[in-house]
Formats: sequence, structure tokens, C-alpha cells
Amino acid sequence: AEDAAYLVSLIRSIPGFPKEGIIFRDFMPVLADAKGLHLMMKALEAALPVPAEDFDAVAGLEARGFLFGPALAAHLGKGFIAVRKAGKLPPQTIRESYDLEYGSESVEIEAEAVKPGERVLIVDDLIATGGTAAAGAELIERAGGTVVGFSFVMGLDGLNGTGKLGGRPTSVLVTMP
Ligand code: IMP
Repeated sequence: AEDAAYLVSLIRSIPGFPKEGIIFRDFMPVLADAKGLHLMMKALEAALPVPAEDFDAVAGLEARGFLFGPALAAHLGKGFIAVRKAGKLPPQTIRESYDLEYGSESVEIEAEAVKPGERVLIVDDLIATGGTAAAGAELIERAGGTVVGFSFVMGLDGLNGTGKLGGRPTSVLVTMP
């Protein structure tokens, strides 16, 4: 609990960004803090929604999932799969579109990014509506993988984002309004 409080103390909140009515939660100070980064990896590991032996790779969602995801994958001895925003990858890609808390977005992976039958844990910094994570999971499964669960550092209250994740095991370290 002390560790969770320390992590939360590092999260910066910016009201009105990227638009009126949104409180943007900024995780960069957690990464910048030696103790914070170490604690976050330990906390994500302790809270894993399925045992570490039940997945082969960690998939991270662009952009902040690219900061935590490879760190967690290395911490756990797994591979890392990058789920990109649309338009950044050479063909052949698979694309999924979805609505975001603010706007609409598409995500892509290379068709060959996932090995057949690969078991994948999806990670991101924050789950709001769950649209991004659900689209990422859809992509991984269309590419031939199996999404065994989701790990988030933070969840936003009242949006029921985890309800969009097909009942898969999910962990959220801290919930905030
Ligand atoms: P969702 O698709 O509505 O669940 O939104 C989650 C996605 O939007 C994640 O990739 C987050 O990184 C990003 N996001 C939404 N709100 C915030 C925020 O307050 N801070 C940081 N990222 C956010």
C-alpha cells in the first residue's frame, strides 16, 4: 500500500488537456524516478492477471505502452510486440478502428508480428473506455495470437473500460476519477 501510494504520488494530473473537461494523467515522472520505475515493474508483476508462464509475449499500445511494455517484457523474460497507430508501418498490416475518449483512432500491426498460437499479455499505462485495448486485442487475435489478459497501471472510474475486454483476466494497479 505504501508502494502504491508512492507510485500515485508520482503521477502528474493536468486538468483541461488535451481538451476541456479531461484530466490528463501523466506517467512520465514514474519513469524518471529510479525507485518509481522499479516499483512499477514489481507491482505489475505482482498483479499479473495470469501467471507469467501462461504467456510468451507482452504487447504494448503506442505510445505509452511502448515505454512500459518493453520494460515489463524484459523484467519477465518475454518478447515484446508493438501495436502501432495507423500509418507508420510498411505493408502488409492489419488495422482496427475504434472510438477514443477524445476522438477516433486506428491501430495496426504487421501481419507477421505475432507467431501462430502465441500467447500475449496486453499492457498500457491507462484504460479509459477500453476501446484502445479492445482494438489491440482484436488485432493480436486476427494475426493468429491469443490474448490471455491485460495489465494497466491506471484505470479511470465510471467508464467500465474493462467491460469491453471480452471477460479476459485484467489487472489495474490504481483507479482514479
Ligand atoms: P481508451 O481507449 O478510452 O481506454 O483510452 C486509453 C488510451 O488513451 C491509452 O492508450 C492511454 O494511453 C490514452 N489515454 C487516455 N486518457 C489518458 C490520460 O489521462 N493519460 C494518459 N493517457 C491517456
